[in-house]
Amino acid sequence: MLGNFLILFFTAIAAGSLAYFIPNWQQRYFKLVLVFAGSYLFAITVLHILPELFVGTDDATNMGLYILLGFLLQQVLELFSSGVEHGHIHHGGHHHHGLQSGVFTLMIGLFLHAFLEGTLLSQDGILSDHLHGHEGHSHSHGSNNLLFGILLHKGPEAFALVAVLVGSLKKRWVFVLLVVFALASPLGMLLSSLLYEQSFIGSGALRVIYGMVAGGFLHISTTIFFESSPDHRFHLNKVLISVFAFALAISFEMIF
Ligand SMILES: [Zn+2]
Ligand SMILES: [Zn+2]
Repeated sequence: MLGNFLILFFTAIAAGSLAYFIPNWQQRYFKLVLVFAGSYLFAITVLHILPELFVGTDDATNMGLYILLGFLLQQVLELFSSGVEHGHIHHGGHHHHGLQSGVFTLMIGLFLHAFLEGTLLSQDGILSDHLHGHEGHSHSHGSNNLLFGILLHKGPEAFALVAVLVGSLKKRWVFVLLVVFALASPLGMLLSSLLYEQSFIGSGALRVIYGMVAGGFLHISTTIFFESSPDHRFHLNKVLISVFAFALAISFEMIF
């Protein structure tokens, strides 16, 4: 758990710092990284998260509703965050007014999203045990792949956050906000585990949250597909990157 906490935190810090120190980052390369991470996120959602949620539930229809609800929640959070979680970079240089409230709402939307996302990583301590009736933590099928997919998504997310903020805030404030953001997912993971272990929330409530996070992932990853080719032209390199990400996700799912 501590290992996951540190990996999550420092991946966000590292990816965010990259944008911080390389302000003239070529957007073309970022777009390709984004497509790769988005494809990977879509793949693990479909290959790993959704099957596990549907297999472990007594009522598949309700699980479907939680996923739809999460999709809608992500749509609302996006109003606050301006789409930073799917790597949307707005070059804010030309609209300076209303900036402070803009940063504040952005951070609220992004923090909520990342916090919820982090709860998913308590899954294999909780859900799998519940599913397979194991004592302890011996069975962790695909948990590394889930972590890997979330880390891949975390990178462009942190990068986009810094790229958006650096045009409008002092650099040290950007770093403070990056640290706040980097803490969101680890805190979500820790708090949901703690609340579960102390029996404040049951596995039923956790499954509702997981379903909603999965719905959010569907929203984020498909938005990346749409925004990567707004002109609806066929971009072979993007398709190849998606195919590569899918293949990698499938192989990791089988290996780990
Ligand atoms: Zn967008
Ligand atoms: Zn995220």
